[in-house]
Amino acid sequence: PISSSSQTFSVEAIGTVLSPYKQKFGIPRQPGLVKYATGIIELHEKYSRPEAFDGIEQYSHLWLEFYFHQTADADWKPSVRPPRLGGNKKIGCFATRSNFRPNNLGLSVVRFDRIEIQHGKVRLHISGHDLLDQTPILDIKPYIPYSDSLPDAQAGVFEKEPEQTLNVHFSNQANQDLAIHQQQYPNLTSFIQEVLIQDPRPAYMRTKANRNDFSIQLYDLDIKWRVEDNSIEVIEVIKL
Ligand code: SAM
Repeated sequence: PISSSSQTFSVEAIGTVLSPYKQKFGIPRQPGLVKYATGIIELHEKYSRPEAFDGIEQYSHLWLEFYFHQTADADWKPSVRPPRLGGNKKIGCFATRSNFRPNNLGLSVVRFDRIEIQHGKVRLHISGHDLLDQTPILDIKPYIPYSDSLPDAQAGVFEKEPEQTLNVHFSNQANQDLAIHQQQYPNLTSFIQEVLIQDPRPAYMRTKANRNDFSIQLYDLDIKWRVEDNSIEVIEVIKL
């Protein structure tokens, strides 16, 4: 609904994402980088109408328009320091995909795995997303390759995926922990590996030798890991 004839509008979420990413730290910086990240979009009652999703099975990917709810209270920043530029070079907000932007709108293309309709309630299973748990979804549209895929597009330094320079390995303790938790989360080892290989550390920490122990929460698990030289060791995986 349009609140007035001015340039101010109000929108309503159509659903919410259930995601293994419980905190911002560790979430990949774009979709598609961590394929084992699964999620579910639960449609709110008003929009949970099977006929509104009729035909959606033919698509492999969907565009999600969403609200950066966790950073929405912060002011937008006209210039930002993208982690890809080492965290010390500024560029304009509209030249980045920063979440500190006017209107707090996010846009991600994700893999669409399947639709589930139970007792008239609609849930969409997705993967490869970059969304925090409980992210409000504002709209869903199909990804249409002939129009949306632009192989000739240029993106300067952002053109290619970041290079992966780290290798990830698991301690004996972590392997024992994973053997237990994999029963509940079948692709857990690959998921953790894909998350960590992105090097989630903030740019300024990548050079600090004395702060090299970290923890990331995925699902209800605390993943403890350590960086040494070019190597990440997963130390243990504890149920929270
Ligand atoms: N692909 C989207 C886009 O281009 O609009 C998001 C890009 S943004 C750089 C990705 C980061 O947003 C993630 O790494 C995570 O830290 C953050 N994020 C994801 N969901 C969020 C939410 N609901 N609220 C605030 N930040 C969120």
